[in-house]
Amino acid sequence: MDAYGAPVIGEHGRWLGIVIVMHDITELKKLEQVRKDFVANVSHELKTPVTSIKGFSETLLFGAYKKEETLLSFLEIIHKESNRLQALIIDLLDLSKVEQTGYEISKQKVYFSEIINSSIELTIHLADKKNITIETNIDEQVVILGETNRLKQIIVNLIANAINYSLENTMIKLSVYQNKKYGIFEIEDQGIGISKVEITRIFERFYRVDRARSRNSGGTGLGLAIVKHLVEAHQGYIEVHSEEGKGTIFKVYIPIVNT
Ligand code: ADP
Repeated sequence: MDAYGAPVIGEHGRWLGIVIVMHDITELKKLEQVRKDFVANVSHELKTPVTSIKGFSETLLFGAYKKEETLLSFLEIIHKESNRLQALIIDLLDLSKVEQTGYEISKQKVYFSEIINSSIELTIHLADKKNITIETNIDEQVVILGETNRLKQIIVNLIANAINYSLENTMIKLSVYQNKKYGIFEIEDQGIGISKVEITRIFERFYRVDRARSRNSGGTGLGLAIVKHLVEAHQGYIEVHSEEGKGTIFKVYIPIVNT
């Protein structure tokens, strides 16, 4: 609470009382804390791969390059860490773009099925690696209003997450249908699930249930934050239902074109 007071003086300098103004600054303080946490997170996430790249390349330069085995394994680490750095920078720049007030997408009529099919093409190699089957049930007639590349980005992100947070030999179901207002994309996995407490936080920047797992799979912790902004830029919304140890369902609602 932030408060200040001022005396109220009436005619002939008569003392009438004091006006006290109180501002509830809890919300402001919270925002300031979110901003500080974000900066701290960015610094940490950037520092980790850079430290690793610096350390391993210096060790190589000081002579470790002479041993072929060491050379190869260190180069692999450097390569992996630079990929991580690149993914992080791309996501950070993208997030700052989509978070800007007034950020607009250019909307066109698109068949939801086309978006889903090309998103599957882009992610099928990840599913194959874990022997995950992708089952589809798609209404081909659903036409939505959106930007093709941004819609693909939303769907690819959700499919990649479903694969990352699933065990081998499981199944992911994708469906598309519509109600009066929205084209609805549903993705259901049989993965590790998310607890009730954590589900409220997964759309926050850098929030991960399991940091190590997310890192290992190349995640930046920014994917769902970007997805949420993009869905909202389409005047849509996103829902999530999950049960720990059983699986997760994400539903994306994008306005349809009524023909
Ligand atoms: P990341 O790059 O870590 O995957 P995201 O923003 O995409 O970041 O997701 C945030 C967190 O939400 C993930 O780290 C993970 O803990 C959780 N999550 C996202 N999708 C799923 C899913 N399908 N099943 C279980 N957990 C998920």
